[in-house]
Amino acid sequence: MHAKDPMLPAQPSLAENDRHTLAACFLGPYGENDTLLEKLVVEFLRDHVYWRRNFHPEDPPAIATAAAQHPDYLAFEARMRRELHQLSAALKRSVPFHSPRYIGHMASDLLLPGLAAQMLTLPYNPNNVSEDAAPVTVDLEVQVGLQLARMLGYPHDPAQAACAFGHLTSGGTLANYQALRLALSLKAFPLALRAAQVPDLELPADDWSAFNLCSSEAIALLETWQRWLAAQDPVAQAHWSAAVEAQRIEQRGLAGFFAAHPDLRVPRVLAPVTAHYSWSKGVKLLGLGRDQLLAVPTRGMRLDVDAFDAILEDCARRREPVLLAVAVLGSTEYGTVDPIDGVLAARERSRARGLDFAVHVDAAWGGYLVTLFRNADGSLRTRAQVAAEFARFPTPAVHAALVALAGTDSATIDPHKLGYLPYGTGAFVCRDHRAMALLGERADYVFHTQAPTDYLARYRSLGQFIPEGSKSGAAAAAVYVTHKVLPLHHAEFGRLPRATVLAAEAFYARALRFADEQAGRLHALVPFAPDSNLVCLALNPHGNRTPARANAFMRRLHDALRADPHQPLQTKEFFGSVTSLPPDLLGGDEAERIFGALGLDMASAGEPLIILRHTLMNPYLLDRENGISYIDRYFDFLARCSARLIPAMPAA
Ligand SMILES: *Cc1c(COP(=O)(O)O)cnc(C)c1O
Repeated sequence: MHAKDPMLPAQPSLAENDRHTLAACFLGPYGENDTLLEKLVVEFLRDHVYWRRNFHPEDPPAIATAAAQHPDYLAFEARMRRELHQLSAALKRSVPFHSPRYIGHMASDLLLPGLAAQMLTLPYNPNNVSEDAAPVTVDLEVQVGLQLARMLGYPHDPAQAACAFGHLTSGGTLANYQALRLALSLKAFPLALRAAQVPDLELPADDWSAFNLCSSEAIALLETWQRWLAAQDPVAQAHWSAAVEAQRIEQRGLAGFFAAHPDLRVPRVLAPVTAHYSWSKGVKLLGLGRDQLLAVPTRGMRLDVDAFDAILEDCARRREPVLLAVAVLGSTEYGTVDPIDGVLAARERSRARGLDFAVHVDAAWGGYLVTLFRNADGSLRTRAQVAAEFARFPTPAVHAALVALAGTDSATIDPHKLGYLPYGTGAFVCRDHRAMALLGERADYVFHTQAPTDYLARYRSLGQFIPEGSKSGAAAAAVYVTHKVLPLHHAEFGRLPRATVLAAEAFYARALRFADEQAGRLHALVPFAPDSNLVCLALNPHGNRTPARANAFMRRLHDALRADPHQPLQTKEFFGSVTSLPPDLLGGDEAERIFGALGLDMASAGEPLIILRHTLMNPYLLDRENGISYIDRYFDFLARCSARLIPAMPAA
């Protein structure tokens, strides 16, 4: 136990059964599971070839058997081989994500079920834009949405009217954009009904209250409208469909729509200062502009609910509508978890003041941590049950945040991050699928005339609802198969986040010891006790008081820790990443605490402080087979590196 931190009991370790299953999950740092992967690849390639041959077995081979002897054929093959060898040689300079010596960005080894499913599916080349091009994998993608919805605690039974819906995107960036697009569509629709002066419907009295309906009220209004329309005769149907369509924001654009509603201002999007830069991209893409993106202050890099409350009060007073508020589950730079429960409670208070908005959880990084909190039957685990497996995870705040997820409107989760799957898989999930009709590219989803009402049939026209068009069915197959092999609860998929959180706890404990060992040489500080599996470390050579010099030291240290295409990979002992702590972003108290602990002068705090950032997602950081802790080795490396760099530093 560490003397200075009573929160840190002896390190628990991963259970036997978790370790045995994890042994089969990845190709492995040494390629240990090479024969397993090879067997799978060959088996399913052959299987694919049989499928081709059995389509119309009476069709003879179109490529002559002798073709392979022609000089042009051979020349082509030679060219192809040369280029492939060159590619393969060049790829040896890739970043070794598979290695436990890689603790930099949000990448690690790939789960074998996903990798094999993706390779298996690639030669069939399904296009998940619609069922016509992907009769199998488009259903798998819709199922993935339901699997993720269940993990989040959203309704996930398609027989229920208010079932959730989710789909894959190229990444979290586009999933976040989809959240903005959906929130705007739903908020703007009641105003279109008002502008079209649809009779008989009970509509909000003015544009402000129409824009501030809560999402369930807006969805109920959409449904009432659809039922009303269905009851009209064909002539009236055509008339009212056209009248409403003409008033929709999707038809008029932002400029036309807000010109037609002069009493309503362009809405704000609220996101904590720690939010990913995809939110800036999103508001630009939507045409709202970065001016509308308001940064909510944080405390310890977690959204500050009091500050959030104050912003909401201010918005309500000034009649500035809010489209959506973002809570981050696992911030990209610090791994911190926002108080989702606090954000929802603040929305309740704001609702009472007449200002309502969607709450979106950006769980691109932390989404799969939720598996640790779910039982196989879908119920939630208590904090004590989860905590029994760890030294200090989950803090009460983290547990409360994750339990609150079910009350949010939508979420972003990246299977290509903590889902250990190949790139090209972000995911967007919304809690009530009925709002998706408003994104339908074909009007009949809103105007209810020919659109299929059956959930699965409707979403087989996936391209209607997503920002992309053509997209990989193989990626969907990879996510689906992975979630079937490792269901999204603590006893199955949970093995992975459990291993990484344990590694992060061991890293944290080691970092505290490192700080003691280095006293007199180096100030070392974990600026924020980790919420999950990302741990930062701030360093400052003893005696230095200026952030500029501390940063110069950190830049040199980072040079030793980052990929350098001009040097052989093997010259690197470890890979890490850096981030920065801008003092204005920290806030006064926090900046003083951190600068003080590092022996730095606050007065000269101008530039952001550079700190090390470690993503501890490799499952083999603690190698029990060989009794090696790559975490200990990393800190030995840091000690050696610092001892070499400090004397070489130019005098202050
Ligand atoms: C990674 C990340 C994103 C962006 O996801 P991409 O898959 O890189 O597009 C968005 N938000 C958070 C919190 C992230 O960590």
